[in-house]
Amino acid sequence: MSSFSSAFSFLHAIGIVKSFDDVPVLRGIDLQIAEGETVCLLGPSGCGKTTLLNIIAGLETPDSGRIFFRGEDITHLPAYRRDFGLMFQDYALFPHLSVADNIAFGLKMRKWPPARIAQRVRELLQLVELPGYEDRKVYELSGGQQQRVALARSLAPEPRLLMLDEPLGSLDRVLRDQLLGELRYLLDRLHQTALYVTHDQHEAFAIADRIMLMRAGRLEQEATPSELYLRPATPFVARFLGFKNFLDARVGGSSASPVLLTKLGPLQAAHIPPDLSPHDPARLVIRPEGARLSDEQSSLPNRVVLTLVMRAFHGAQTLLQLRPGDGTEPLLEFELPGLYPQLQPGDRVPLSIDPEAIVVFGNERTDPAQHA
Ligand code: ATP
Repeated sequence: MSSFSSAFSFLHAIGIVKSFDDVPVLRGIDLQIAEGETVCLLGPSGCGKTTLLNIIAGLETPDSGRIFFRGEDITHLPAYRRDFGLMFQDYALFPHLSVADNIAFGLKMRKWPPARIAQRVRELLQLVELPGYEDRKVYELSGGQQQRVALARSLAPEPRLLMLDEPLGSLDRVLRDQLLGELRYLLDRLHQTALYVTHDQHEAFAIADRIMLMRAGRLEQEATPSELYLRPATPFVARFLGFKNFLDARVGGSSASPVLLTKLGPLQAAHIPPDLSPHDPARLVIRPEGARLSDEQSSLPNRVVLTLVMRAFHGAQTLLQLRPGDGTEPLLEFELPGLYPQLQPGDRVPLSIDPEAIVVFGNERTDPAQHA
């Protein structure tokens, strides 16, 4: 078996390409996971997340590309010899076996001695907070409890890498949030390396140390959850995160202090990509939390006056839908902390936009197909 010089990398997939029936699904993906890290593959349905996970698991073979584990080439190593754990949305538990037999399944296959298996099952039931559930049948458990058993089963053999494919997809939002928190805590505590697949950004933000956002078989952006949110690299990423406030602009001012000329007026942005020069067209998005009410005396920058279309109570926040300019532009949406009962549709609302909340896309990052 050949080895790869970057032996420091725990898992390293390089140039992974895969087609099904001549349709390209992965178009050259690189992925690295450090030991103890949770990496999340995020992206819309069909972008190739599960195919990449299956290739790393050894359940699919790439057309080209290589996978290294601690420097060893495992591209063609059969799945059962990788010592990786898998957990799927549909649990794949055996419904008529007991909880203990489900958790013990992989350990028996690996021929662990019975006393050690019983001990490990007890440990895992403690870990997933189901102590005393050994003899229950799986079909007697709730969906959330079944998911905990599935997690216990995939962790039982101490996998070198745990792979989770939409593991909480079948659960309701409340239960999902609770299990996500528990899972994050467990992965940290066990220092378990994990690869997590989801199309849900909230899930990715809650679980990941690092997110790889995929688009049509390619990597669109790789970042920590907060970097991804604060600095989406492309309009596609911003749109995927649910941002709506896209504006066309032209770079004005001087090279030393550029501003963005928009239909809302000139806007200062905290970061303007260096490849944009004065007079260049640009595209920007304003994050929804980036506006505050402003008054005439306000010293805040980026003061704009917009017409209120709709105000919605969101608990701790108020959603404002506002019309810019002559009404031909798409509406802008901002979430402001607090309640604003005085604001009524038709009101002219003065707002100040935080320069940090304006994300400007560089020339090569502006994708005409993704314009609003
Ligand atoms: P989802 O979030 O919907 O699961 P995904 O990002 O995980 O999507 P994949 O399941 O990897 O995407 O699928 C990517 C593309 O490859 C899809 O168009 C899918 O139909 C196709 N595909 C996946 N597996 C196969 C297969 N075994 N044979 C043929 N086409 C496949």
